[in-house]
Amino acid sequence: MTLPATLLDGYASFRSRRYTAEAERYRRLGEGSQKPRVMIIACCDSRAAPETIFDAGPGEMFVVRNVANLVPPYTPDGSHHSTSAALEFAVMSLGVKHIVVMGHGRCGGIRAAVQDASPLTHTDFIGSWMRAIKDVTRIVPREAGDNAETHERHIERASIEHSLANLRTFPWIRVKENKRELSLHGVWFDIALGELHAYDEDQADWAAIEGGAAA
Ligand SMILES: [Zn+2]
Repeated sequence: MTLPATLLDGYASFRSRRYTAEAERYRRLGEGSQKPRVMIIACCDSRAAPETIFDAGPGEMFVVRNVANLVPPYTPDGSHHSTSAALEFAVMSLGVKHIVVMGHGRCGGIRAAVQDASPLTHTDFIGSWMRAIKDVTRIVPREAGDNAETHERHIERASIEHSLANLRTFPWIRVKENKRELSLHGVWFDIALGELHAYDEDQADWAAIEGGAAA
């Protein structure tokens, strides 16, 4: 079977344009090991690709994507923890300086958890994966006057804050953060506006990042 035409066309474009323009950079990256300073934990959502949003080139960001950009708590129980394994590699082997949890608006994973929509939350894997969100939905009740979209936005953001707390359950993350060798960040991407909002942990508040205004 051949690959879909959209992939073949995209690859042809990459070879003729981006790779051609950055061939020397790719060659150097291919000779050494990667040294990204930033790790991003983002959603699988096709509309919120971190490399696009941060205009990142090859070798710049270590990215792990999962449904609803969740960080599970530190649970070394021998199970298959792909996100935790990526965290361990990024922090202990690559020595990244920043971990950014990036959520986004209209997240289908969050919506399924909030609405408890069947069958998404009751299938083999998503149900247990999204269980962490259930704790968040319990502590962020729907406020009077909130429509469904506003409520989901509150959950999307509270989930990022919850993931930041879970990051600190990993002992080696906590140690490096205390030594100021590692910084943790939470951001949320508004797909329709292309706008990024950042979480200020000191103020426990969210605000759009300055300088991100569209031309
Ligand atoms: Zn999502």
